[in-house]
Amino acid sequence: MGLFSRDKPKIKTQTTKKDGFSGWLKCTHCSELIHVNELQQHGNCCPKCDYHYRLSADERIKSLADPDTFQELYGDLQPVDALQFVDTQSYPERLASAREKSGHNEAVIVGICKIHTLPLAIGVLDFNFMGGSMGSVVGERLTRLIEHALKNKLPLVIVSTSGGARMQESILSLMQMAKTSAALAKLHEAKVPYISVLTNPTTGGVTASFASLGDIVIAEPNALICFAGPRVIEQTIGQQLPPGAQESEFLLKHGMIDAIVNRSELKDKLKELIAFLTHSTKTLTELEAEVSVGIARK
Ligand SMILES: [Zn+2]
Repeated sequence: MGLFSRDKPKIKTQTTKKDGFSGWLKCTHCSELIHVNELQQHGNCCPKCDYHYRLSADERIKSLADPDTFQELYGDLQPVDALQFVDTQSYPERLASAREKSGHNEAVIVGICKIHTLPLAIGVLDFNFMGGSMGSVVGERLTRLIEHALKNKLPLVIVSTSGGARMQESILSLMQMAKTSAALAKLHEAKVPYISVLTNPTTGGVTASFASLGDIVIAEPNALICFAGPRVIEQTIGQQLPPGAQESEFLLKHGMIDAIVNRSELKDKLKELIAFLTHSTKTLTELEAEVSVGIARK
């Protein structure tokens, strides 16, 4: 299977009986037969080989947030075609089809929710909307979310999946890298924890900005995580990369990420980390206060 992972098993997704689809699918990773219900029960992971298929932003939020606790923020911010960009289609045409495909008006959903009763700010990218690419609205929504987290001292979680910066917004898109990074620097200074979760695939300007800036960086198993993708590198240097060179397991081994967490354990792990980080932040502040009081008394 290697580096070019697909987001879904090679299947018919129709659930009507008209075309005779029985609900059985063939896993593109292990080739075993699996049933669509079983796949859904396992959070879109193969029940046989545990290959992690992609989740939409809605599915991801549902898998992490306590029921009825998610409230979307800044959903009214809409992209505009500032550069009047046209490739094979105009940018407004691409936006319209992305809206239809994803059911959302941009490639990121941000808001607040609770995870095992702990409140936090959360942003989730959606690959179904123009490959999760970062245009100015993705950058702006995330920046406002980070500022909201800072103001309210809410721990922040961002779940990334992205093809990188959005070509149709050119330099305006690249500027989002600096903007989100600058906002995260302020969050870091204020000692508000940020956990970045990388899912398949996370690439380009997203990897090169907020996705890599977590106090803790977690990845899902076998996720492609890179700046330039394998094809681009191979075309540039004229050599094949070693197998798995840009996947989670390789990056963990080489110190680029902190942990690989299975999707079924992600919610529990986030709760554990947030509880640990928020507690230790307070304890550290309290400790410092105690120490300075102690010094003043002497
Ligand atoms: Zn499988």
